[in-house]
Amino acid sequence: MSACIFCKIIKGDIPSLKLFESDKVFAFLDINPLSRGHALVIPKFHGAKLTDIPDDQLSELLPVVKKIVNATGAENYNVLQNNGKIAHQEVDHVHFHMIPKPNLKEGLSVGWPQQKTDMDKLKELLEEVQAKM
Ligand code: 5GP
Ligand code: ZN
Repeated sequence: MSACIFCKIIKGDIPSLKLFESDKVFAFLDINPLSRGHALVIPKFHGAKLTDIPDDQLSELLPVVKKIVNATGAENYNVLQNNGKIAHQEVDHVHFHMIPKPNLKEGLSVGWPQQKTDMDKLKELLEEVQAKM
């Protein structure tokens, strides 16, 4: 997609600090890192959300994330993949963040607004989702 900044990075039209490249995957350092080693791993196939990417283009992404975790030596880290504006997605090309968490101040801060457990509602949801899988 010609207007997409990550597609431009893959093509080399926008420079990046490339960590890894294969037929299907590209990985580079985030330009505004949350911590040292913050990296982005993306499919070469353009799609905004996870569900827009064919399975065969997704399968190599997590192994590359793992490779980068090992190479950076991160012991604590978050792997994050945002979908949609209100879910904090700014760039509409699927990307996995690998964000080292070296201490409590740097890296990703996560809000975790837990709701009260309602087993009846959970079971209802389970049936609804399972029926569509
Ligand atoms: P999102 O909020 O969409 O999950 O994250 C997008 C990420 O892409 C942000 O962390 C941002 O710093 C990074 N980013 C945006 N534009 C560029 C760019 O041109 N180069 C690089 N290396 N990273 C970028
Ligand atoms: Zn793109």
